Amino acid sequence: MMRALVLAAMLAAPLAAAEAPPAIDYTAERAAIARYQDANQRLQDAGWRLARANAAFCPKVIPSIGLQLQDMASYGGPDVARAALGLTRDFAVNAAAAGSPAALSGAFTRNREIVRLEGFDPNDWPATPPMAWERTTRAHDHIDAMLVEHGGITITFAGGEEARVTPVAVCASRFDLFADPDPDIVARIYADGKRVWFGLASPNFSSAEPEFAAAVAHELAHNVLGHDAWLDRNGRKRRHVRLIEREADRLVPWLLANAGYDPEAGVRWMTVWGKEHDSGFKWRRTHDGWDERADMMAAEVPQVLALMAAEGKADWARHFRREIDPAGGLLPRAKR
Ligand SMILES: [Zn+2]
Repeated sequence: MMRALVLAAMLAAPLAAAEAPPAIDYTAERAAIARYQDANQRLQDAGWRLARANAAFCPKVIPSIGLQLQDMASYGGPDVARAALGLTRDFAVNAAAAGSPAALSGAFTRNREIVRLEGFDPNDWPATPPMAWERTTRAHDHIDAMLVEHGGITITFAGGEEARVTPVAVCASRFDLFADPDPDIVARIYADGKRVWFGLASPNFSSAEPEFAAAVAHELAHNVLGHDAWLDRNGRKRRHVRLIEREADRLVPWLLANAGYDPEAGVRWMTVWGKEHDSGFKWRRTHDGWDERADMMAAEVPQVLALMAAEGKADWARHFRREIDPAGGLLPRAKR
């Protein structure tokens, strides 16, 4: 499931084949990593905003500080990445999501080197670079466990400075950007139950902010509605995938409205993006056409706006009409 971050390896390739040995252009490496991190920051910011604002309605909520780390061992060229970012060892801040406790602390600037997560130095954990993700996952799992057990975590930076951060509740989902040499794969976005994945070349990155957030909301909807587990139990038949895709689309205006985005943004996302990228027959087997998808999202907006006006929130745990029984199989047809 993990996609390799091959960026550094690709960029470490010689600029001119005739030159030997190839000189590494660290300015170009830094710029490439910065572009990757800019896209990642955008994903973290929108993801946080949606997961935080919808926490009251999510079936599974976790304490979080909105901090994402990076491990040089996960890069295609760990030595190149380490030198480009000016690190002594391997762990550093990747992103602090806008509005999160980590961001509000002011301590977690991008690429700031980290030497301790409470009692552990993650740099001491074993890794088999390049493109090794185990320690990144372990570090995030460790932070999550500390937040549950101790209601906060102290993180130490290279140089000895410390930051103590206390969490807030968010819907249980991580957000991750991936790179991949396959141009088809790296343009994709998807959700696997635990994470929302955005490929670095997803066309959604060229969208305006509310439409970008709508794409994140669609993938987050899959996770908070338990779609992956439901498909595991009920089978990944085409008919089933269509139902969960419809549910995810229909929840988009709800998730957006609670997070302070225009609930109509989902409709615009599907109209613009869908028109350009609807790849026709292959995609149509599991998704409705973009125009039908836009219509289904639009149909939710009046109820969402009415609830926002009356209650100041769009409580989808109470009011959203499900297409599937999340604890069982299909709903009786009459209830759909
Ligand atoms: Zn989907």
